[in-house]
Amino acid sequence: MSELTDLYQEVILDHNRRPRNWGALPDATGKAEGYNPLCGDRLTLHVRIEADRIVGVSFEGSGCAISKASASLMTDAVKGRTLGEAFDLFDAVHLMLTTPIDRPIDESHVGKLAVLSGVREFPARVKCASLAWHTLKSALTNPAEVARTE
Ligand code: ZN
Repeated sequence: MSELTDLYQEVILDHNRRPRNWGALPDATGKAEGYNPLCGDRLTLHVRIEADRIVGVSFEGSGCAISKASASLMTDAVKGRTLGEAFDLFDAVHLMLTTPIDRPIDESHVGKLAVLSGVREFPARVKCASLAWHTLKSALTNPAEVARTE
């Protein structure tokens, strides 16, 4: 467990310092806002869906290192996936984050996202880690029309 915790901290720091898929998304087809009042994390997620596939995804916002790193990891993980695959991944990550700390997690469904399981050691931060995933679900199920100037 301590190895995973070390890796967890390393990955969180790296993704917080250099968030992947950061910024606006030209040609986005949808977006969603996420807010975690417990910590004050705010997140705007942009998605571009083409024929049932997430061909583009990016995020912006302000929040703690965990929320930012989790959003960075999430965008990397779902880019190129079909909507069905993204929902499956949401379920797998949600299950992982809500598994009690003394129980093993099934890493086969989450891949490198398993590092996020380290957040279970800090129950108050679990919502920081899950914010990006809930925002993704909202962007995929109820994407607000993105305002266009032309
Ligand atoms: Zn947070």
